[in-house]
Amino acid sequence: TRLSNQIAAGEVVERPASVVKELLENSLDAGSTRLDVEVEQGGVKLIRVRDNGVGVDKDDLPLTIARHATSKIHDLDDLEGVATLGFRGEALASISSVARLNLTSSPDETGAGWCVQAEGRDMEAVLVPAAHPQGTTVEVRDLFFNTPARRKFLRTEKTEFSHLEEVIKRLALSHFQVGFNLRHNQRVVHALKPAYTEPEQDRRVASLCGPSFIENAVRLDTQVGELRLWGWLGLPTFSRSQADLQYFFVNGRSVKDRVVNHAVRQAYKDVMYHGRHAAFVLYLELDPTWVDVNVHPTKHEVRFRESRQVHDFLFRSLHRAIAELTP
Ligand code: ADP
Ligand code: MG
Repeated sequence: TRLSNQIAAGEVVERPASVVKELLENSLDAGSTRLDVEVEQGGVKLIRVRDNGVGVDKDDLPLTIARHATSKIHDLDDLEGVATLGFRGEALASISSVARLNLTSSPDETGAGWCVQAEGRDMEAVLVPAAHPQGTTVEVRDLFFNTPARRKFLRTEKTEFSHLEEVIKRLALSHFQVGFNLRHNQRVVHALKPAYTEPEQDRRVASLCGPSFIENAVRLDTQVGELRLWGWLGLPTFSRSQADLQYFFVNGRSVKDRVVNHAVRQAYKDVMYHGRHAAFVLYLELDPTWVDVNVHPTKHEVRFRESRQVHDFLFRSLHRAIAELTP
């Protein structure tokens, strides 16, 4: 059972960034409007996520970190089959099998809550009373302390932190109504208030993507039938730092997709010169039945049912906007 949990953990928990992604997704699922993330040493020493969501009742607390998958894996031969299931409902159990985890929560404003703790091999959860406002705080310390092999794959503190920050950027760009705070080694890295109006959204994008991106970008919003594309489109730039400034969300989910990439590349073709990079933050919204997001739960893949139609819509919308951008 230890083996199976740690194998499952390998799927979900690759590095500190994957822990942060799972924790923040849980917080967003819980309806939080404010998320505070505190990180030490790139997330290896500490990741603390505090939210103001619905919280967890005392009786349900031990269940949050309970293992569900132990019956699924009997030996290593089962591994491949299980990997495709995606381990949903497994994140906290997996994380706690490779770190020291505690989750403190309160479902109301009495100020009183409870805390469950689990630590690596010590999967028996300990439940103790703890003060907490409504919401949940999850602390993950000493990631991979009991799995030296995984620890070896971790990169430098700077690299791990940049992966982690990237996860937060993507979530902050797709949840404007939620406030995000990020601190690394006691230093404030992001302090983002909820953004409702267009100027507030511009400000958030500027603060995440740099003021020069926003200054040179146009806002775009086109709709054809069920398909809507909106967001910010920048001119191709020489700036090295903008090489990675390519965010594409499908129904609020960050996505890397061949169909999308191709349409974007085609649309930018006429204005793309050697050494330049396209820069954009774009949101495609479409009927959920048109898109299969469960190709792989931990990757950013999707499959469009009408990929031709989606491609053409993207290409036309972007091509028109780019033509307006360039004199
Ligand atoms: P999943 O999210 O797939 O259900 P997880 O292991 O990520 O599995 O979380 C287990 C359960 O713990 C969730 O279903 C939820 O009930 C509870 N939970 C986890 N984090 C939070 C949170 N921040 N706020 C409220 N409930 C939470
Ligand atoms: Mg989850």
